[in-house]
Amino acid sequence: MRQMFKPLAFLLIAGLAITSCKKEAKDTAKDQISEETLAKISDHGFGTSDVQKVEEGYLVEGDIILTEDYLNTTPGGNYLRIANNEQYRTTQLVTALPRNITISSSGAISAGLSSAIDAAIARYNAQNLRITMSRASSGGDIVIRLINGANYIASSGFPGSNGDPYSTVKYNKAYQNYSAGFMTTVIAHEVGHCIGFRHTDYMDRSYSCGGSPTNEGSSGVGAVLIPGTPSGPDSGSWMLACLSATTNRPFNNNDKTALNYLY
Ligand SMILES: [Zn+2]
Repeated sequence: MRQMFKPLAFLLIAGLAITSCKKEAKDTAKDQISEETLAKISDHGFGTSDVQKVEEGYLVEGDIILTEDYLNTTPGGNYLRIANNEQYRTTQLVTALPRNITISSSGAISAGLSSAIDAAIARYNAQNLRITMSRASSGGDIVIRLINGANYIASSGFPGSNGDPYSTVKYNKAYQNYSAGFMTTVIAHEVGHCIGFRHTDYMDRSYSCGGSPTNEGSSGVGAVLIPGTPSGPDSGSWMLACLSATTNRPFNNNDKTALNYLY
């Protein structure tokens, strides 16, 4: 996730300058990614204009890590894409339902961030889904790990071919003393990716991020529309790509529809 003007990341007035110097670095990074990998990323419906090589695989759409395992799965043929701001999921979902997902943290996280993790878990549990979540002291199915110096607020990935949630949320240390609503939204958003949600505005990230329209996906592939979610813009969705320092996005009705449909 970047603040507004970066996927669930923040940049406000300083955004322009930072974006322009970052762009160069990104272009350089992109040059090191093979055409074959870029083709796989595209086949899975992700844009290739903003791909960064990271430790676990490739970072796309600002906060999503695609692992080799994920990229080597077959993207499937029954994708639907109708409008620009709907609820989308990935092909791989968490399986073996009903199940409980444990979430732990590693490193010396702030009390505020710890409370936000609990609050994000409570948001999911309040939906009475076939997935429940609980806090573990260590070794959770999903581990929230503090990182230094990232150019995003937090990042995570999608469920793998084994049907388990993505196992790590990286949370930028610089954002661990923001408001409870902000941090809860960020954790709930990243956990949303871990269980298979894509960005609600993935086809045009500028909807929540500002700036010029960014087409992250390719037409006709890569995201499965969740039935019952709207075909128009959905300004409150917790899976919008960007947020501001004062944003709080508890699940709205469409989010609840999407969660209940999948889980
Ligand atoms: Zn995201």
